[in-house]
Amino acid sequence: MNRLPDLHTHSTASDGTLTPSQLVTRAQAMGVRLLALTDHDTTDGLAEAQAAAFELELILIPGVEISVTWSGMTVHVLGLRIDPANPELQQGLARLLAFRAWRAEEIGRRLAQHGIEGAYEGARALAQGHLVGRTHFARFLVSCGLAPDVRGVFGHFLTRGKPGYVPGDWASLEEALGWICAAGGDAVIAHPGRYPLTAHQLARLCGEFRELGGRGIEVLSGSHDRSAVLRMAQVARAQGLSASGGSDYHGPDQPWLELGRLPPLPPGCVPIWGDWPIQVAGEHSCACTP
Ligand code: AMP
Ligand code: MN
Ligand code: MN
Ligand code: MN
Repeated sequence: MNRLPDLHTHSTASDGTLTPSQLVTRAQAMGVRLLALTDHDTTDGLAEAQAAAFELELILIPGVEISVTWSGMTVHVLGLRIDPANPELQQGLARLLAFRAWRAEEIGRRLAQHGIEGAYEGARALAQGHLVGRTHFARFLVSCGLAPDVRGVFGHFLTRGKPGYVPGDWASLEEALGWICAAGGDAVIAHPGRYPLTAHQLARLCGEFRELGGRGIEVLSGSHDRSAVLRMAQVARAQGLSASGGSDYHGPDQPWLELGRLPPLPPGCVPIWGDWPIQVAGEHSCACTP
């Protein structure tokens, strides 16, 4: 059984396709014993996930994936072990959710100008009362036959220079770190291998992030190949950041990605969960010491 943590996952509270309870149940079945639910800009799924985990031999880490605008690009920062009740965090997330609500309508308007009617309504129906993200638009446009898959929709409609693209107006790095730290969490740079950054720019991001109280970087990620893992292990060591790992699971409709299927951390990495008050007590159980 894989007892590695999976510290980056999504549920229907943002753009995942499993409910928080379904996600927790699947994680348990896949052998995950330390699971973070990190929905985009919301903590709405955490109570249900926590309740589901309580019944199982699985420790649920409350998390969030905050959208950040840094140097004109969107960067994702995870908050792990946050207190979801923290007012500063919730006020910050409320602002991002308000921007998301406006952006979803704006994406709909821009697609309509491009001759694609009803996209906002379609995406909203798929979101089932939760936040409407670009992934919901992508799934809707796939269902209309406008692209073969979600990736295709992003490439043709939703990225910079394409008809449905709306620039992000997210949190600053300083704000995101402020909210995570106020909520007592550990901040982690998500999937650094995905950003179009030079080594020098990534070093600058890490430096600013650490100065603002950031602690870790995802060395292991569902979107990192072996060479990205080794590169990010080096970045973590050079920048004095701890290493985190998560699949970035969004649901079984991405069959190439599974919960908890992460390689071991390369030598020399300091696991971010190493100083969390959590022990793997035995083959099949974890105990949380106060
Ligand atoms: P949003 O935060 O609403 O702008 O959407 C970002 C989400 O869209 C990411 O978390 C991914 O789930 C998804 N996404 C972004 N780019 C792509 C892509 N090229 N192909 C498939 N999914 C993507
Ligand atoms: Mn997503
Ligand atoms: Mn992300
Ligand atoms: Mn994610």
